[in-house]
Amino acid sequence: MPMTTQAQVLELLDSVADPEIPTLSINDLGIIRDVEVHGTGQDIHVVITITPTYSGCPATSVIEADIRDVIGRAGIQNVSVKNRLQPAWTTDWITDRGRQRLLEAGISPPACCASHPLPDDTDVVCPYCQSHNTQVLSRFGSAPCKALWRCSDCLEPFDYFKPH
Ligand SMILES: [Zn+2]
Repeated sequence: MPMTTQAQVLELLDSVADPEIPTLSINDLGIIRDVEVHGTGQDIHVVITITPTYSGCPATSVIEADIRDVIGRAGIQNVSVKNRLQPAWTTDWITDRGRQRLLEAGISPPACCASHPLPDDTDVVCPYCQSHNTQVLSRFGSAPCKALWRCSDCLEPFDYFKPH
């Protein structure tokens, strides 16, 4: 039985992981801007509008393919994926659940708003012991969006997801 509601489509999209940070779904990232469901039964057409996290990022085509795959497996072949480039995505769009999932994966979520960045990233929390006594080791981490930090209390290094 084909699904018909926007909520059901969003639930399916929750199983699409971000290729760069697989602990997050594309819902957690906040890149799904719109879901439209047209028609009924076999004639259903789903239009999904996404805002890519980084323009020109190769992950975007991976995400599009994964969306088609997940929706297709639910019995809907007629899927359109549109890109909306404005307004640009920022880390402020990461949901509260997404921030929690980052912490659980050992990645410190953005400490402040991309629109109002703090001068020197002063409030980066350690994902292991929740200490704010942390320092930057390298501005460039395992991916362009991350920096490498270390906790001065538990001494664990961790990835910090930079505000963007
Ligand atoms: Zn710590």
